[in-house]
Amino acid sequence: MEYPEIKKRIDLIRKEAGQAELLLATKTVDCERIEYAVKECGVKYIGENRVQELLEKYDRLKDLPCELHFIGTLQKNKVKYIIDKVSLIHSVGSLSLCEEIERQAEKHGIIMNVLCEVNIGQEENKSGFLPDEVPEAYEKMCGFPHVRPLGLMTMAPVCQNKSDYLKYFTKTYRLFIDNCIKKVDNRYRPILSMGMSDSYREAVQCGSTMIRIGSAVFGQRTTK
Ligand SMILES: *Cc1c(COP(=O)(O)O)cnc(C)c1O
Repeated sequence: MEYPEIKKRIDLIRKEAGQAELLLATKTVDCERIEYAVKECGVKYIGENRVQELLEKYDRLKDLPCELHFIGTLQKNKVKYIIDKVSLIHSVGSLSLCEEIERQAEKHGIIMNVLCEVNIGQEENKSGFLPDEVPEAYEKMCGFPHVRPLGLMTMAPVCQNKSDYLKYFTKTYRLFIDNCIKKVDNRYRPILSMGMSDSYREAVQCGSTMIRIGSAVFGQRTTK
């Protein structure tokens, strides 16, 4: 995608997103384009989803005037590589992962911001807590001294009919309201991270506070 086109797309999505923050999912995107999006288009949040790629890009990304988040599946043994590099981990889908984040955060003397990942479509091969597990899991996540849960994240099942997204996002919003909002310290803003290129309009309609956009800005990814 050429630079002026990237800016055009960002501006348009921002308009459509209303109150929701725009996070750019920057997997496979080169650092020049990411820099352009941050410095010339004012993007405030970027998210990487592979540890290896984040580490490779980190020297270029670390001084950008934006927050760097981790949004992908995270293996426990890799927490140590990113704990001091990101400001929010969106994808905490198990208590054992949360325990490892607690351990590493304590070691670094920090409190790590996290989101509890919900497998809202109850899909076999997807990570995250099942909807029924969220109340107890979220409560437990709030008990770790070096972990600060700020809300929920979900990846909805891919829907052919876009209106089907509404059902999943409404259900996630309900969980967010019932389990998270009251528990977030009022110095912080509760975050509901949902909506991607194909579904952000529906997500915003259902109360998303942060949409994660890749291909709608940077074009179709050719490699994974
Ligand atoms: C890649 C990715 C996105 C963005 O996907 P697009 O469909 O390209 O917008 C959002 N969230 C996560 C976790 C991702 O890995």
